[in-house]
Amino acid sequence: MAGYGYEVDFLPVGSGDKSGDAIALRYGEPGSYKVMVIDGGTKESGQKLVEHIKMHYETTHVDYLVNTHPDADHASGLEVVIEQLTVGEVWIHRPWEYAEEIRHWFKDGRITDESLANRLKDLLAHAYRLEELADEKDIPVYEPYAGAKIGDFYVLSPDQDWYLELVPQFNKTPEARSVNMAEAVTSFGAKALEKIASWIDEHWHIETLSEDGETSCENESSVILYGNLGGRGILLTGDAGIQALEKACDYAENLGVDLVTSRFIQVPHHGSRNNVSPSILNRFVGSKVGQGTTLTKGSISE
Ligand SMILES: [Zn+2]
Repeated sequence: MAGYGYEVDFLPVGSGDKSGDAIALRYGEPGSYKVMVIDGGTKESGQKLVEHIKMHYETTHVDYLVNTHPDADHASGLEVVIEQLTVGEVWIHRPWEYAEEIRHWFKDGRITDESLANRLKDLLAHAYRLEELADEKDIPVYEPYAGAKIGDFYVLSPDQDWYLELVPQFNKTPEARSVNMAEAVTSFGAKALEKIASWIDEHWHIETLSEDGETSCENESSVILYGNLGGRGILLTGDAGIQALEKACDYAENLGVDLVTSRFIQVPHHGSRNNVSPSILNRFVGSKVGQGTTLTKGSISE
């Protein structure tokens, strides 16, 4: 394909211990690029996304807008994008549409489909607002479940059945246990440096991650996207945890996609140590090699 190219831009979200995702990407041939936005971070980073797309992509149109999961550090910036740019398709989970299917998970017998739907709209207000804005602007809204195709990307996780099991557990798992990379980098204490050192070690021969890291069910519900852009694999993971990543690997295998050959892999949850495990990293980047091993061309995919 003559002139085919792609670009993935991660914009900074917040400062200090605040983080999130605001990702713009485009791919295709010059003059007919497709533009995608995956999460918008905060309102502030949402505004930066708008400026970035106007200035660097020289367009005011986003073909595909995806919200990986309803947390504010991912969803709220997307409001700004929908308000200020034209959008072709909005991709977002709408759990409030499934009150009837998930009501049996709740013990409270008085709960009705309507009250459950309203509770979910309140709890996930940032995500619900995206649907409202899309409706106001007549933008079609689709749900990103495994098997869906968004432009040149496949959704690998969550599948709809698992998603509907996760929803009743939203807002239950505290985030307190997660220690993320952004936090470590910005606090500069001795402990922080230790954290960074152990993270970096992970890339070589010392195993420092555990197999039982946990994250919230909201994070596990994150949309995991895989695209093959001009022969190069790109994997975007939102805040997915170990369970979601396992499911995504299984789904990729069924599609015949070898994730190890991916050129670009987003470390989930802004670099949190609790969202990956040694075995999941092996499935993403290949097994460990001994210290001193020379990687020759062919052992890493080019
Ligand atoms: Zn997040």
